[in-house]
Amino acid sequence: MRLQELIPGLEIYSVPSGTKVFDWTVPDEWNITDAYIMDADGNKVVNFANNNLHVVGYSEPIDEILDRWELETFIHSLPAQPDAIPYITSYYRRRWGFCMTHNQRLALKDGLYRAVINSFLAPGHLDYADLLIPGESDQEVLLSTYICHPSLANDNLSGVVVTAALARWLQSLPRRRFSYRIVFIPETIGAIAYLAKHLDHMKEKTIAGYVVTCVGAGKRFNIISSRQGNTISDKFAALATYSTPYPVIKPHLYTERGSDERQYCWPGVDLPIASITLDKYGEYPQYHTSLDNLEFISQERLEASLELYKTCLQLIDFNRNFKCTTICEPFLTKHGVYPQTSPSSVPDELNVLAYCDGTNDVYDLMLKSGLRGEDTILTLNKLLEKGLIE
Ligand code: ZN
Repeated sequence: MRLQELIPGLEIYSVPSGTKVFDWTVPDEWNITDAYIMDADGNKVVNFANNNLHVVGYSEPIDEILDRWELETFIHSLPAQPDAIPYITSYYRRRWGFCMTHNQRLALKDGLYRAVINSFLAPGHLDYADLLIPGESDQEVLLSTYICHPSLANDNLSGVVVTAALARWLQSLPRRRFSYRIVFIPETIGAIAYLAKHLDHMKEKTIAGYVVTCVGAGKRFNIISSRQGNTISDKFAALATYSTPYPVIKPHLYTERGSDERQYCWPGVDLPIASITLDKYGEYPQYHTSLDNLEFISQERLEASLELYKTCLQLIDFNRNFKCTTICEPFLTKHGVYPQTSPSSVPDELNVLAYCDGTNDVYDLMLKSGLRGEDTILTLNKLLEKGLIE
């Protein structure tokens, strides 16, 4: 609902529990109102009301008296990070459990405890939202992010925020060559359910796309390759990173994937979907713990990610093969694009023009001319304006 306020036209859809989606079934819906562990003196030593990571996701309802050692078997904590509550969920195996900091765990005394989880599992819905922002062409670029992680900022409120900002930016553009499909789904089952509904259309129309995740914290950008590894999405992600001031790790192979590119690239789906992250999921110590909070992410990082995605999408939207219109070098001075003084090296314009033979797209031109990111777009726009390429 908050996203609909930010993104006009965003629609919410529901898939009922029990719906078959390829090899999976949409599970029952989990609802929880309250959960705690109470000691013999009536103190709530762990309370869901303080942090919703305290209960293993999808926990069954319980109300039991246990001694400390029985209770221990239902507790998850991280000895190496004694102040972090781990994020643990168990969708398809019925169980219950509590998550707490290791320090909380060590503070438990011998004695009896009452463990209460007021939850219920019942047929409900898997909710997701999407929006198609139309362009001149009905070919589509996909931006997909996931909305299922509770109370975790980098993984993945950051992805939701950056995707929303990208949607607003795309909507504000005076023209778009491609159409843009914006998708907010629960990870894995949501992507599978979404593909079950849209597979034929997406296979026909999708030319590029990204899973937007973990874009609010970290020191370096990461690219997770599509399964094919050499799609437009892979190429322009790599080239767009040249214009960010942040260091970039060489692209991860598809075997290092972890989010919904798993579904989008699966054989038979075969969409050209990659991902750009800052510090990658699973590779920072705050990952899937309560330390992945609003203090961990920063506006500066969110903006850097937003800018990188914007550059990447601009390059994709602009991409085509160009052909120069003159035989031999054009007399640039006549066209008003040549520096008045004699340049010490070949000017950028001529380097770009030299490869405009109709076989090179923007990616090739960037690689061959040495120009990067927005500079390439500016140069090509200038040459287009002067009629020197078509
Ligand atoms: Zn995660």
